[in-house]
Amino acid sequence: MKSYDAVVIGAGPGGYVCAIRLAQLGKKTAIIEKEKIGGVCLNVGCIPSKALIFGATQFHRAQHDFEEIGIGFKSLDCDLSKLQNWKDGVVKKLTGGVTQLLKMNQVDVLTGTASFKDGRTIEVKGKSNETVTAASFVIATGSRVVEIPTLPFNHKNILDSTETLELKTLPKKLIVVGGGFIGVEIGMAYAKLGSEVTIVEAMAEILPGTDRELVSVVEKKMRKMGITVLTQAKAMGSRQLNQGSEVELEIEMGGKKEMKTANRILVSVGRRPNSDQIGLEKLGMKLDPKGNVIVDSQGKTSVSGIFAIGDITGPPQLAHRASMDGLIVAAVIGGENAHKDYKVVPWAIFSDPEIATVGLTEKEAQAKGIKFKIGKFPFAASGRALSTNETEGMVKVLIDESNESILGVHMVGPEVSNLIAEAALAIEMGACVEDIIRTIHTHPTLPEAFPEAIESAFGKSIHIFKPPAKPK
Ligand code: FAD
Repeated sequence: MKSYDAVVIGAGPGGYVCAIRLAQLGKKTAIIEKEKIGGVCLNVGCIPSKALIFGATQFHRAQHDFEEIGIGFKSLDCDLSKLQNWKDGVVKKLTGGVTQLLKMNQVDVLTGTASFKDGRTIEVKGKSNETVTAASFVIATGSRVVEIPTLPFNHKNILDSTETLELKTLPKKLIVVGGGFIGVEIGMAYAKLGSEVTIVEAMAEILPGTDRELVSVVEKKMRKMGITVLTQAKAMGSRQLNQGSEVELEIEMGGKKEMKTANRILVSVGRRPNSDQIGLEKLGMKLDPKGNVIVDSQGKTSVSGIFAIGDITGPPQLAHRASMDGLIVAAVIGGENAHKDYKVVPWAIFSDPEIATVGLTEKEAQAKGIKFKIGKFPFAASGRALSTNETEGMVKVLIDESNESILGVHMVGPEVSNLIAEAALAIEMGACVEDIIRTIHTHPTLPEAFPEAIESAFGKSIHIFKPPAKPK
């Protein structure tokens, strides 16, 4: 039996980050992975989806936006198979890099499925067949796709996100069931590559829970791209046509049934925690009704010596949150009194244009009874956005009236997945209006929109005109 200071189960962005930090803190560490180093994020999630979106966006811009700026092509096509190979290469480089880092940090990598024998022992079955014991365990087994019983995956033309991201030929017609961020991102990417895309969402809106003002900008672009969005529409079942190459989806909308054909259906209706196959029931570990492992602010589960991080602990199911959980838990195991005191967890949707948000939304601020001002700055007034021909969207800032601190920043537009980092830092550090507007921002760049949005809340944006309020 091998014995360690710490054993991490699952090598996603939560697990591998935690394992490397544990090793840096001098802990004898092992990580157990049943599939691929890098987990969902690096292999079938964040990275391949963003690589595909990048390729699709270049193709779409070259087709639709370049003519206006004087660039023409004699012929233009996209070799999806080549794009997929390049995307797979990106994944290989990243996962190879992480594997190397684990090795260099002397983390033992055990390949196999881990299951708790008891609170102190784990059995690994697979390439590595061993029993390991440790002073501390970290569960980082992530999540997997949810299947709709009436629309089961057939791995041919009813697919999950992993399979849809790997298509080597372009589906003429793609139906996306589920208008959450994964469905919207992948649906828009295939629309850019030339598929006829329909999004079917059971709720009243796509991207539920996201600021409607931001979503409306993306919806406008979807309409322009010819994407059909059906809301309050339920996918009820399917029927295979033409020896299985085409499929017909039954949709219920407003009490009426409708049939829609497609070459591929992506079912993307959420993810569930991988907490059911690792022997947690033997330990009596406390889970919430959805199966998420319940943890405290130090990542401790209800079983002494066992921690949990990332997707398996419930929302927000984001890679950067999983990684930060991993760093905090490693610090706690290392003897620090660290806590997950997340003031803000920024997140981005890689739609077109992108959406990014951090801090309180208007609804949340109202619910807390906070009096706030709103400032907005449209990218149409940004020199940088104009000079890159990407003027859709805006930056919206919520400012606490009592102390002029920044409560929330919500963006839709070019590169906002990058721009949100400054806003996250501002809120994390408790920045006030003065801190941002006195910081010199490089010109001409998109981040200039942040101080301008703040200034606009006070009628002082230089690049948009807002008449002074009339005295009452
Ligand atoms: P995971 O990445 O799920 O890793 C868990 C690992 O544990 C897996 O490798 C699994 O094989 C392993 N495992 C499970 N059970 C066992 C066992 N019993 N024994 C051994 N190993 C086991 N998030 C973002 O922040 N930004 C994005 O842009 C983004 N895009 C996404 C796009 C898609 C298509 C998808 C599906 C997800 C996306 N996400 C994104 C979400 C992100 O991928 C997850 O939040 C993140 O991967 C969670 O990390 P984790 O470490 O908790 O778990």
